[in-house]
Amino acid sequence: MTHDYYALLEVERGADAAEIKKAYRRLAMQWHPDRVASGDKQAAEARFKEITEAYEVLRDPEKRAAYDRYGLAGVRRGGRGGGDLSEALNIFMRDFGGVGGFDAWFGGGERARRERHRGQDLKVTLKLTLAEVASGTTKTVRVRTLDRCGECGGTGAAPGTKPTTCSTCGGSGEVRRAARSLFGDFLSVSSCPSCAGDGTVVARPCPRCQGDGRLRTEKTIEINVPAGVADHHYLTMRGAGAPGPRNGPAGDLIAVLDIAEDSRFERHGDDLVYDLPVSFTQAALGADLQVPTPYGDAPLKLPPGTQTGMVYRVRGKGLPKVGEGGRGDLHVRVHVWTPTRLTAEQRALLEQLAQVEGEPPAEGRLGKQLWEQLRRAFGG
Ligand SMILES: [Zn+2]
Ligand SMILES: [Zn+2]
Repeated sequence: MTHDYYALLEVERGADAAEIKKAYRRLAMQWHPDRVASGDKQAAEARFKEITEAYEVLRDPEKRAAYDRYGLAGVRRGGRGGGDLSEALNIFMRDFGGVGGFDAWFGGGERARRERHRGQDLKVTLKLTLAEVASGTTKTVRVRTLDRCGECGGTGAAPGTKPTTCSTCGGSGEVRRAARSLFGDFLSVSSCPSCAGDGTVVARPCPRCQGDGRLRTEKTIEINVPAGVADHHYLTMRGAGAPGPRNGPAGDLIAVLDIAEDSRFERHGDDLVYDLPVSFTQAALGADLQVPTPYGDAPLKLPPGTQTGMVYRVRGKGLPKVGEGGRGDLHVRVHVWTPTRLTAEQRALLEQLAQVEGEPPAEGRLGKQLWEQLRRAFGG
């Protein structure tokens, strides 16, 4: 088999995008696995994959340029091309799907039937505090959902009876007929009208669930919340949603997170920022202080000469990193607090200090230092 993409699509090297698309469509309709007689199926699949690969490269101006310049080596990562059949079918669907019965044509059969029978997803909102985010927690939620009907065991058939194979479709759940489309004749597949795609029919529905196989109920569900989650995360518990009708597979339970703000901390991903007011003397002389963290207070050594806006990092006292292990940091941003009311004694001491204190540095230099420190604190 040739790997000249132009030869595969039977177009000239100078063919434009419209010609390439047209050529691919014609060949894809010819080699589509569902349109080829059973004996040639494997060869057809191989050919279909080849032409789809050629089309994917030549339709994309960048990939086409790389191919023109370097050949296959320019477009195949890892040396192997092709990909699998479903990928090729998806590409075809993407550009030519949605006409006639194409959706049912490709997605049909067992998978589509399972999907139709799948129960609903349940959505819950979990309210969390920052402390719960820091430690991880287990939440209990009450949900309105459905449960398998005990009367019929979920089949939907009256006790003592069973669902029977649908005679219209012979149990496949779909009916096929020849149809005409833009691309020529093809086989259209649609859901069976007698059984709605189930493949089985219930002659006498279960009186308890009216043939649905499920009954309303309320359930208590426990949800494990890992440490370090954020507002935009959501937790999915596969199969914990409502069961599908007539013993269909269950949907999922999806927990959306609503994390309450903690007035003490500003959150930046895994890092937290805490604003610490200090007095002028603490800033000038240095001090041993305690700062709050989600894990209790932690010591902070304030060096002499601390300025307003300086940021000190307390390592590992931020939030846990989900899936990575370890924790972010707590950044302590210092604000020098100026007293608003002075006692006579304080005033006298400060006036004495004013006699001997030095001039503050030029504004520009100090500002630059602070920015430099902030940038370092946030790893910028
Ligand atoms: Zn029932
Ligand atoms: Zn049927």
